[in-house]
Amino acid sequence: MNMKKYNFNAGPSILPREVIENTAKQILDFNGSGLSIMEISHRAKDFQPVLDEAVALIKELLSVPEGYSVIFLGGGASLQFTQVPCNFLIKKAAYLNTGVWAKKSMKEAKLYGDVVEVATSADANFTYIPKTFDIPTDADYLHVTTNNTIYGTEIRKEIDSPIPLIGDMSSDIFSRPVDVSKYDCIYAGAQKNLAMAGVTVIIVKDDKLGRAPRQIPTMLDYRTHVDKGSMFNTPPVVPIYCALETLRWIKKCGGVEAMDKKAIERAKIIYDEIDRNRLFRGTVKEEDRSLMNICFVMNEDFAELEKSFMEFATQKGMVGIKGHRDVGGFRASCYNAMSIEGAEAFAACMKEFEAKL
Ligand SMILES: *Cc1c(COP(=O)(O)O)cnc(C)c1O
Repeated sequence: MNMKKYNFNAGPSILPREVIENTAKQILDFNGSGLSIMEISHRAKDFQPVLDEAVALIKELLSVPEGYSVIFLGGGASLQFTQVPCNFLIKKAAYLNTGVWAKKSMKEAKLYGDVVEVATSADANFTYIPKTFDIPTDADYLHVTTNNTIYGTEIRKEIDSPIPLIGDMSSDIFSRPVDVSKYDCIYAGAQKNLAMAGVTVIIVKDDKLGRAPRQIPTMLDYRTHVDKGSMFNTPPVVPIYCALETLRWIKKCGGVEAMDKKAIERAKIIYDEIDRNRLFRGTVKEEDRSLMNICFVMNEDFAELEKSFMEFATQKGMVGIKGHRDVGGFRASCYNAMSIEGAEAFAACMKEFEAKL
């Protein structure tokens, strides 16, 4: 038997064991039909309830108000960088530039109209969230990346904005309650906190659709997918099934409030150890630290120990802790499925490494 592994991968990433097992079962035999979920039509009568339950659970878990639709699309969060402005940008849009993903979304928006960068933390390699900036009231929306997966910063409370928000929540959706009513659109690639890769969840405000003064290609028009309940063309059925299992698991665990409580406790265990341990230091301004992606480096005096800590941690079963190349050092991603015990094991590993010196 292999040693226990703790999966701190940034994405695709850890999923609850029962989600993986239940999805595997349906891949082998879908609802006792003798066929795999991979072999049946998405229009088969057994699949519609999967989609319906997943949509209903998303609405329930995030308390999505009336007037919003939930759809599942392919193309990843990256396609949303294009699809959002194509559908919502009328003349001008505001973007908060908090790093790589925000920059990529701004680049695509420029194809459709004026883009105002309201603020950026590029001056400090995106290690903080800008707080004081003007939001142009004549812009169509303010786009924010709520959790910056690469740098480990997070906006945990909706920005007070005079215009509607649009949120890339790829790496913190379902980790905490969200006031959906502040948003015209929320999108999230599934592979960080929800499912295997291959599906994107999109929550759109219905009455904001169809206003952009352009012809939208059929597949890029949210209305196409809203009207057909994500069944205009073949949706990614297995990732949607996997998402359903995760949503059921979140509900069983007590919903997003429980996920939030656990995330706070879990992150504290690791950040406390980073702050206590003389070998390490966090890279992010304390008040903006992400609960999902914990970034840290060796203190200058111990820089040469980076490789040996990596080896030590790997021996202890820690997986996926290498920092993104733009930040260096280490990143422990702690999505919903990461246990408190996993965080304790990680902190213990840092402590043990220090004690060995
Ligand atoms: C991973 C990630 C993306 C890109 O997602 P894809 O599904 O690979 O396109 C976008 N935004 C954020 C915040 C991410 O973490």
